[in-house]
Amino acid sequence: MRERAKPRVAVFKMASCDGCQLQLLDAEEALLELAGAIDIVNFAEASSHIEPGPYDVTLVEGSVSTPELEEQVKQIRDQSRVLITIGACATSGGVQALRNLADTEAFVRTVYPTPAYVKTLERSHPISDFVKVDYELTGCPIDRGELLGALSALLAGSAPRLSTSPVCVECKRRGYVCVVVARGEPCLGPVTRTGCGALCPAFGRGCYGCFGPSQPPNTEALAKRFIALGLTPKQAADKFRFITGWAPAFREAADRLERGPRSAKEGATP
Ligand code: SF4
Ligand code: SF4
Repeated sequence: MRERAKPRVAVFKMASCDGCQLQLLDAEEALLELAGAIDIVNFAEASSHIEPGPYDVTLVEGSVSTPELEEQVKQIRDQSRVLITIGACATSGGVQALRNLADTEAFVRTVYPTPAYVKTLERSHPISDFVKVDYELTGCPIDRGELLGALSALLAGSAPRLSTSPVCVECKRRGYVCVVVARGEPCLGPVTRTGCGALCPAFGRGCYGCFGPSQPPNTEALAKRFIALGLTPKQAADKFRFITGWAPAFREAADRLERGPRSAKEGATP
């Protein structure tokens, strides 16, 4: 009997630090088990053996920040049956999207000795700004268990089930002490998607939102809480403007805080 072909999997990198790809490589035994069920045919971080598409499942790490990357991600999409973006850079532009709030040209002139050689887009973009994305795994880096779970679900022919609830839910489930209630420290857990197992509160520190917004995130209520804790509107805005600060919900929350109390009131829910 002819053996059924294994799904062909590819892993690509755009503008990023490689940390999310390393989550896959660090999976060790689980990865070996997975490797028996799939063919990893294009993963430059792991092997120089590269096969062309089409691919059944493609993982893409990193943001799109140059015209070449924009072209490349469109080609990748054309070659992929299922496209999954992995990590804060790929899903919301990453920490490098902080430059979206400033003058990119000024950065290029300051950082590079020969700015004429640098071709960059005006902004750092999530992949979904250019192509259809089937599933998004958020986090900086992504959670290994979520990644393996998503791949296993696809192998079994079902859609990955990704939680949209906030980190607070996980915190309560695990019985962690709330840093806001116990210590009066700001925490983005109430508006951040869980997936990390409430990692930061487990170590007694507030969440800084690396998994991006939960659905739906009540950022207005949290902003008010930050102010009540003694943060200035600018300090509260800066809490939202971090690793996933370009995600629309966090960006709008920070913008409202920076515009001042009148705009915050206008945007407030009744
Ligand atoms: S520590 Fe943060 S994530 Fe945990 S319950 Fe408190 S506010 Fe929510
Ligand atoms: S608690 Fe928040 S900042 Fe910490 S790993 Fe989880 S999502 Fe990221």
